[in-house]
Amino acid sequence: MMRTLLFTAVVLIVAALPAGAQVSGHWCQTHQRYEEAYKEDPDAFKAIERQLDEAVVEYASQLGKVDDGRTFYIPVVFHYFHPTTEGNYTSFFGEDAANAVIQRINDDMNRNNADSNDIQPYYATFRRGNARIKLIRAQLDPDGNPTTGINYISTDLTYNRNRNTDNEIKYMSYWPSTKYLNFWIVKELEGEEGILAHATLPEYSASGSTRMSEDGVMGLLDVFRQNIGDRFYRHALSHETGHWLGLRHPFQGDNSVLNSDGTSSGCSTVDCRFGGDKICDIPQVKEIIRTCVRNEMTCTNENRIDNLTNIMDYRYCPAMFSKGQVTRMRGTLVSFRSELVSYENLLRTGIGTIAVADIGEKVEVYPNPFFDKIIVEVESQNETTSCIEIRDLLGREAYRDCKKKLLQGQNRFEIDASEMNMGAEGIYLLQIRTPDATITRRIHYKPMN
Ligand SMILES: [Zn+2]
Repeated sequence: MMRTLLFTAVVLIVAALPAGAQVSGHWCQTHQRYEEAYKEDPDAFKAIERQLDEAVVEYASQLGKVDDGRTFYIPVVFHYFHPTTEGNYTSFFGEDAANAVIQRINDDMNRNNADSNDIQPYYATFRRGNARIKLIRAQLDPDGNPTTGINYISTDLTYNRNRNTDNEIKYMSYWPSTKYLNFWIVKELEGEEGILAHATLPEYSASGSTRMSEDGVMGLLDVFRQNIGDRFYRHALSHETGHWLGLRHPFQGDNSVLNSDGTSSGCSTVDCRFGGDKICDIPQVKEIIRTCVRNEMTCTNENRIDNLTNIMDYRYCPAMFSKGQVTRMRGTLVSFRSELVSYENLLRTGIGTIAVADIGEKVEVYPNPFFDKIIVEVESQNETTSCIEIRDLLGREAYRDCKKKLLQGQNRFEIDASEMNMGAEGIYLLQIRTPDATITRRIHYKPMN
């Protein structure tokens, strides 16, 4: 660890630029922090990494069969640690700022970012992915009380010089990461100048319960307010959210190829599902590169042109996630972070109705209560595939049909109770999912005695 810190310090002294200019060094500390944790128990981390990699491979093998392309909604909470002397702190980070952060990340996750014109044509056409992941500010806190999804904590520990580690900040205010994505906002970060943010990879919290309360994304207020203004800052939190959902840097390497000085090259010769950044549809990048020079091929063993606009790279032209990265993020959500995106959790965090309002279709379900059959009427804006599921409040499946086709306009389905595997009388959740929407209705099953 000492050697790493010294090395980073030297690089930064040589290359540090004033704020507002381009960022140098490891502006993102996710990998360094993960490596430190990894060293404490390499065997355990290796096993967990393999578990996640295999879950992603399994998920990828079922695309188009089990995965219905539904949108995943993630409840988020922002913890803003403002200095004790800072008056009017909501003006530094208020609801508008929170919404702007969410908008930027959602734009990147859903292929909506405006600054995508310089994606190389090949990548734009064949490799750019739509993650269909949407962040929403939580409406209910862990105790079930209403919240704006922003916590204000008055503390001078927001300055690194007043605390020992960044983790101290996390322990001051943390909501369970099985239910929320935590964003911690501070004035200064641990380490050298130039560091903007860090996140925890999914394996990190899965490796031990004490690490759970460190699970999330931490960054400088400047990044959250995006007030440095360059394009790089605009995507920095999408980059961190990508890490939190299992993505690595394409230049990270895995020691399978070494540079002449013995350090790990970003190029990898390991199976792309398990080595390097674990992504197969974009090539590895040999080392950290800032400039956006087109047609660069840095890992000649792969014989592919670098995806220079990738959000997980350090180049100054981030604009896209690849389809492979999207698969890994979604694969993480259905495995290591599945509770987070369950409908029960949307209800618990108060965003169920927002997620429903987000969609265009109209749904009627009747009779309700029902006993022998239930009728579902859906008005769809276009022709699409859909999945209909009924689950109890513990998430146990009572009915599932993923072959329902919705036609444009009004659709009507009758589901007979004999087709359902219903338990006792009670409240169930009927969910209709299309590639663009998830609609859920509470239904009351009341069998005749
Ligand atoms: Zn990073």
